[in-house]
Order: sequence, then structure tokens, then C-alpha cells
Amino acid sequence: MASGVTYLDYQSTTPCDPAVVQAMAPWWTEDFANPASRLHRPGLTAAAVVQHARSSIAASLGFGPEALIFCSGASEANNLAIKGVAEAELRRGGSRRRLICLATEHRAVLDPMRYLAGHGFELVCLAPQADGRIDLNQLEEALSAETLLVSVMAANNEIGVLQPMEAIVQLCHERQVLVHCDGAQAAGHVPLPSGLDLLSLSGHKLYGPKGIGALAIRPGVELAPQQHGGSQERGLRAGTLPVPLIVGLAKAVELGEADRDSRGPRLAQLRDALWERCQGLGGIERNGSATQCLPHNLNITIQGVEGTALHQALRRDLAVSSGSACAAGEPSHVLQALGRSRLEAAASVRFSLGRPSTRADVERAGDVLEDTLKTLRRP
Ligand SMILES: *Cc1c(COP(=O)(O)O)cnc(C)c1O
Repeated sequence: MASGVTYLDYQSTTPCDPAVVQAMAPWWTEDFANPASRLHRPGLTAAAVVQHARSSIAASLGFGPEALIFCSGASEANNLAIKGVAEAELRRGGSRRRLICLATEHRAVLDPMRYLAGHGFELVCLAPQADGRIDLNQLEEALSAETLLVSVMAANNEIGVLQPMEAIVQLCHERQVLVHCDGAQAAGHVPLPSGLDLLSLSGHKLYGPKGIGALAIRPGVELAPQQHGGSQERGLRAGTLPVPLIVGLAKAVELGEADRDSRGPRLAQLRDALWERCQGLGGIERNGSATQCLPHNLNITIQGVEGTALHQALRRDLAVSSGSACAAGEPSHVLQALGRSRLEAAASVRFSLGRPSTRADVERAGDVLEDTLKTLRRP
């Protein structure tokens, strides 16, 4: 990492694994044909490798080989899932208009939902419990005969909290309500829930390339395309398939499955050591459930410091986050949904560990935090 900065922001993005880069290499230069060119051998070769990647990714997500739509990332996958379902309901003359999500969803879920709320749909945005978990009783009350879709992320990008997806799926399916899950932070990190209707995935959150993602769609779920202009991806997503990125995504998913069960406990140990260090500094509280949580996430709120000064000081030595990389400086809506004030949300830090993280990294983070607080809290 540049200039001695310790990178602990793996939930905003991960480095592409060298094995992923290697797997992609020939598909940029030698085998560059368009997989939609079915009249020549190079095109058919490209189509075959895409098909292979499609089947292996889908299988590891718990879906059939034809379930996957490749797209640019989880933002696009979420848009396609949510707006696609809504528009398909209008098209078929259905009467379900209610959409439900959690207030702590990523903006790539919240914003399409809000967009639809301005176009004849009704949005119910549920407040999480204090630990960031969904209140299943509240969800059950919100599920009406008019409910079309519930969207809940498996693992939160800011606080790492894991949601009880199977229970959510059961409540929804008893009422013929579709369930979408933004799995960007879960895939490649923790086991994925089963029984979902729609699941979004992002390459760069699991040591794959940026600019590629997928939406897995259970057979029978109708979607209206959100990008027109070609018959690729069953007419649901026009555009030439990025073969190298697709090959890279498949490799990243494969590598993620291979080391997930050893990586999780190792990073949890490092994370716990960092949290212990934080507790020793005093006036630091942890955000979100400490048990139902990704192993590589630690989100804290620091009392007695001002957010801007805190992050200005930290960034000399650490790459950490105060919220989502996509929120552009606004105090975190996730932490505010948990009951934090704007000032508290600003004086919060998300540490997220990754495959390259070491004990030295978290020790350095602890040292930097200690020094920073000594300076900032000096009366
Ligand atoms: C990063 C992220 C996204 C956006 O993914 P892109 O592939 O960058 O579009 C969406 N949802 C969650 C939970 C994320 O962490």
C-alpha cells in the first residue's frame, strides 16, 4: 500500500487476487472474441468459457446454471432486481405495490426503492433493532397482501451485521412475497442463505475485478430489463459480455469458497484483538451485533472527539472508513438508524480486515488510534 498507509478498508473494496489476474490474462489479449459471435470458433470458445463461469458461480450461490445475469456490479444488480420486479408487476397488471426494506440497506437498494416510491409504489422502510438486526415481528406486520418485494442485505457493509435471511424468506414466501438479497458483503465471506428469489453479487468485494457483478434469479421470477439494446443475458441486460471480468469473477468466487472457512476465524481473531485494544482506550462503543456479524468487521463510535478531526488524523497512517464509500461524506445513515446522532455517526470508524491483513496491521491500527485519541482528547 502506498506511503506506509495500513489498509483496513476491505469492505469498500478488495485487491484483485493475483490468481484472478492470472486467470483473466489470456482473455484480454489472445482470446478476445465476442461471446455473442456464434459464427466463428473464437467466438464459440469465448461463449464456452462464459458458460463455464456462469455455471460454477451459480452453483456456489445455490442457483441453477441459467439463473445468472452478468452485469457491472451489485449496484446494477440491485437496480435490475428491484426496478425489474416492480416493472414486471405493472406489465402483467398485478396489483402489488408495497416494497419493504431495512433502513440500513445500501444506497444501491434504498435509492431504487425511493425512485419507485415516486412512481406509484409504496415504500416501507423498517427501522432495525438497536443491534442492527431486523425485527421479524415488524416485518410480519408490514407484509400485506399488497406487498410485492422485500429486500434485505445478508451482511451490512458498514456494521457487518448478518440478517436472519432464512426466517425472512419463510415469512415472505408464506405470503407469496418475493425476497431480494444484496449479497455483496456476504458472498465469498460467509455461507449464503438459501431460498432467495434474487441475489446480488459484486466482484470487487471478494478479491475479484471491479466492474463485474451478477444477479441470480430464481426460475419463474419475472423481471423487466433495465437496459435495452441487445439480446445478451436473455434480453435482460444488453451489452457485450466482459469475458475477462467474468472469468475473474468465477476465479474469485472459487478462491473465496476455498479459504472462507479458515479466513473467517483468522480475521475474527485479529478483529477481536483490535476491539480489545479499543476497549482499553476508554469511551469507545461498538456498533451493531457483536455475535451476528461478519468476522472481518469492527465499527466503533468514539466519545469525546470530533469526526472530521478524527478522520483527518487517522488518514495519515490508516485507510479506514467512517461509513460507506458510496455515501460521499454524509454521516452514516446506518449508524443513525441504530440511534446514533449525526455527530456520533461522524466520530465513528469502520475497520474492515481482509485476506492480506496481519497481526502487525491491527497492532499498528491500535497504536495509531491510541496516539490520535491522546492528542485529540487533550484538554
Ligand atoms: C459495494 C456494495 C454495493 C455496490 O457494489 P458495486 O459492485 O460497487 O456496484 C452494493 N451493496 C453493498 C452491500 C455493497 O457493499
